[in-house]
Amino acid sequence: MRVAVTGGAGFIGSHLVEKLVELGNSVVVIDNMSSGSLSNLERVREKIDLKIADVKDLRTCLDVFKDVEVVYHFAANPEVRVSVTNPKIHFDENVYATFVVAEASRLSNNVRTIVFASSSTVYGDATVPTPEDSSLRPISVYGASKAAAELILHSYSHLYGIRVVVLRYANIIGPRLKHGVVYDFLMKLSKNPDVLEVLGDGRQRKSYLYIDDAIEATILAAEASKAPFEVYNVGNSDWVEVSEIAKIVSKVLGLKPRIVFTGGTKDGRGWPGDVKFMLLSIDKITSLGWRPKHSSAEAVELAARSLATELGLLKTF
Ligand code: NAD
Repeated sequence: MRVAVTGGAGFIGSHLVEKLVELGNSVVVIDNMSSGSLSNLERVREKIDLKIADVKDLRTCLDVFKDVEVVYHFAANPEVRVSVTNPKIHFDENVYATFVVAEASRLSNNVRTIVFASSSTVYGDATVPTPEDSSLRPISVYGASKAAAELILHSYSHLYGIRVVVLRYANIIGPRLKHGVVYDFLMKLSKNPDVLEVLGDGRQRKSYLYIDDAIEATILAAEASKAPFEVYNVGNSDWVEVSEIAKIVSKVLGLKPRIVFTGGTKDGRGWPGDVKFMLLSIDKITSLGWRPKHSSAEAVELAARSLATELGLLKTF
């Protein structure tokens, strides 16, 4: 099958591209390299078509989507914290970009399915474990941008018969990751191995899923969904505290830094808009036969180890 992956040079996107190629698909990637890189695609570079361009350009998308049946829309600005300082980035890169991808899919006349990388942040401060039918009450512009993008896609599925599969990911971690708490801790420790500053009170507790588990769930959900519009939570069955993550990452580097908590917001969040407790109900996706192979803590250790190797940090300490 001919498939397109927007953001295919990024962290999740590049792992997805590798799996899609392995499964025998003909893959075209569109990525503007704002946070992605060619090195992420080096294992499959000869086997794919690559367009270095912005998905917000309708003509380019139309050209890329020629003969494409399934679009995996993973291009976005994934940094939740950016919401606080520059909310427009999330409107442009996550909402408007999704509108263009939907429009290009409609106008192409050949795209039958859009698989969309949404996020647990659409729920905001929800009761946990949070099922798919919970209210969408995002507390960051990032979360709001993902919720808005989901709704645009819903209208396209209703009006134009494009099948949409929405995947609300928990924290996905593993090699090639360039944002989030595990990456941040590694970078901080590479600069100062004696002190590790943790944003917030350290009591934030969230679910983490290793990239291989996430890719398996993504492929399964994309293939299993038959409804015009289907939503799946993709996360782990357990969670881990940020203070524990600090200890795991330090241990991977063989360090014993002094761990300092900034305190964060009044209620101990890392930053305004940070969801402090996140655990998704994964009953729906597990009913398809998928199970995470690694717990949240195991995922953190595996990711920290692979990222530390990638960043050359294991040699340093
Ligand atoms: P990433 O930054 O590694 O990947 C995003 C990719 O999109 C990058 O390669 C970037 O260059 C590209 N891109 C951004 N804007 C673009 C544009 N306008 N045109 C073309 N390409 C563009 O981030 P990621 O962690 O791999 O995230 C992938 C997707 O999954 C994003 O939609 C993100 O919001 C979503 N998501 C990620 C997580 C996570 O924990 N990593 C959790 C929930 C949702």
